[in-house]
Amino acid sequence: MFYDVIIAGGGLAGLTSAVHLSKKGLSVLLIEKHGYPKHKVCGEYISNEVLPYLKALDFDPFDYGAKNIVDFTLSTPGNRSISTKLPSGGFGISRYCIDWELSKKAKQNGAQIEHLTVTDIQFKNDQFEVFTNQNKKYKASIVIGSFGKRSNLDIKMNRKFIQKPSPFLGVKAHYKGDFPEDAVSLHNFDGGYCGISKVETDLINVCYIADFKSFKHFKNIEDFQQKVLSKNKYLKTVFETYKIAFEKPLSISQVSFSSKQAVENHILMCGDSAGMIHPLAGNGMSMAIRSAQMACLQILKFKNGQLPCRADLENEYTRVWNKEFSNRLKSGHIIARLFRLGIFSEWIMIFLKIFPFILPPIIKRTHGKPMEATL
Ligand SMILES: Cc1cc2nc3c(=O)[nH]c(=O)nc-3n(C[C@H](O)[C@H](O)[C@H](O)COP(=O)(O)OP(=O)(O)OC[C@H]3O[C@@H](n4cnc5c(N)ncnc54)[C@H](O)[C@@H]3O)c2cc1C
Repeated sequence: MFYDVIIAGGGLAGLTSAVHLSKKGLSVLLIEKHGYPKHKVCGEYISNEVLPYLKALDFDPFDYGAKNIVDFTLSTPGNRSISTKLPSGGFGISRYCIDWELSKKAKQNGAQIEHLTVTDIQFKNDQFEVFTNQNKKYKASIVIGSFGKRSNLDIKMNRKFIQKPSPFLGVKAHYKGDFPEDAVSLHNFDGGYCGISKVETDLINVCYIADFKSFKHFKNIEDFQQKVLSKNKYLKTVFETYKIAFEKPLSISQVSFSSKQAVENHILMCGDSAGMIHPLAGNGMSMAIRSAQMACLQILKFKNGQLPCRADLENEYTRVWNKEFSNRLKSGHIIARLFRLGIFSEWIMIFLKIFPFILPPIIKRTHGKPMEATL
């Protein structure tokens, strides 16, 4: 079968694209290597800016018990802290839940989902051939690349960022314990930061990202948590009093924040495949969802002739992507770098405590305006 669109990778960017395009009547095949539902390393705090668009896709996270999050606390290893209201707020929902529910929605709309690993994507004679394990091959007019931060496909395509160092490690688990359901907190430690917020199950997501240089001196995750993260008194309380609800924490390595291209080999890249913001911004999932909407709107224009040729589609997508995300990514990188500068983060905190009104505008710089409900 020949599809209008094949989507390689079914995380938030891929699933949102599948729901959107299938709702608009296009033939869509989404290829995801893992089954749903599945836990993923992610802080699971999503900015409210995506709500109008998700609702237009007939998906309201609060129908699934998402927590409404309005308060934010930031702390340093020197145990200074500051709290503020989030400028636009957000919600807490597990990837286990949101990815699974969106996959059901895509299928209801008529999208086909195959659980296979894409091994290669080739573009010839103005069409794509997508190869997977189990020797399956599919054809389409358009391919969306939504295969996340680091994939076998990045290596196959020899993407530039893959040759650069990827020195970060991510760890996440759900816990039982005491934590307000309307708050998210971000705790800095030597070499990284840890986010805490509740998800729809009432469990607490504790998720951190750490510099591998700082992690490698320790025996394992527990040792690192005890000797480094727990120097921050807020994190000490978490690891001493919370009870883990997973068998063990999930972890990922080789996380990279190097810049990428929004279009490569004629593939429209969405979500982390196009560029990843530092998780401390709490905006990666919104960017994945927003970039999916941007790609879908351009694809629909291409299909109905408003964008007459493929070059117009690719140039227009690249233009809107850069306009929307370039500054946000830069701000995220600068803030994350300042935070990793040890003693410097204490000075920033002293400064923020003197001028607390500066914090909400800093948060705003890494977030976007509410999305339009355009399909
Ligand atoms: C530690 C950490 C904490 C974070 N916390 C937050 C947070 O609190 N809030 C927030 O907004 N963002 C957060 N993020 C960022 C957020 O997780 C990502 O930006 C978001 O998941 C991007 O969605 P995506 O669809 O692009 O990629 P993903 O969700 O990673 O999906 C990519 C999918 O592609 C599939 N795939 C890959 N290769 C192939 C292949 N060859 N064939 C088939 N399938 C393939 C994968 O299995 C995966 O399901 C965090 C990230 C990290 C690392």
